[in-house]
Amino acid sequence: MHCPSCNASNTKVIDSRHLSEGHMIRRRRECNSCLKRYTTYEKVQLEMPVIVKNDKRREPYNREKIQKGVNKACQKRPVTAAQINRLIDDIERHISESFPYEAPAKQIGEITMLKMYLLDPVAYVRFASFYWNFKDINGFVSSLQKSIGKMDEEIRNDQRSL
Ligand SMILES: [Zn+2]
Repeated sequence: MHCPSCNASNTKVIDSRHLSEGHMIRRRRECNSCLKRYTTYEKVQLEMPVIVKNDKRREPYNREKIQKGVNKACQKRPVTAAQINRLIDDIERHISESFPYEAPAKQIGEITMLKMYLLDPVAYVRFASFYWNFKDINGFVSSLQKSIGKMDEEIRNDQRSL
């Protein structure tokens, strides 16, 4: 980390603080050369696993891909950009804890749907409609019912373990 004032490379951290549920770190630094103090905001970057698609092909994890789908589903819903960011941070934390090396794309779809359901049910239904891409309404409705039943059960189990 170079000093923004004199460009010296030896600076020391004098204070470190986690912000917004641990995803950001604010650091107060002091330059050892000119003694000026400044603050840096650093995003905690999780090590993400490789994604295994349904056809077994592997691809690097791509946050923008999830973000695009979530943004589209949340259009004109009372959901803020900060909430979407937190939702994706949550998904990433969950994936990297459960699947350190390789994560099935299907699991990511499922955890994303659960988080969307908790955030905004209408956005969840929209997200599910892009995700499943059903051609007929009956298939979509019965999948929706199954998915919601499963998620409600998971949510109940989570509450019990709290
Ligand atoms: Zn300096």
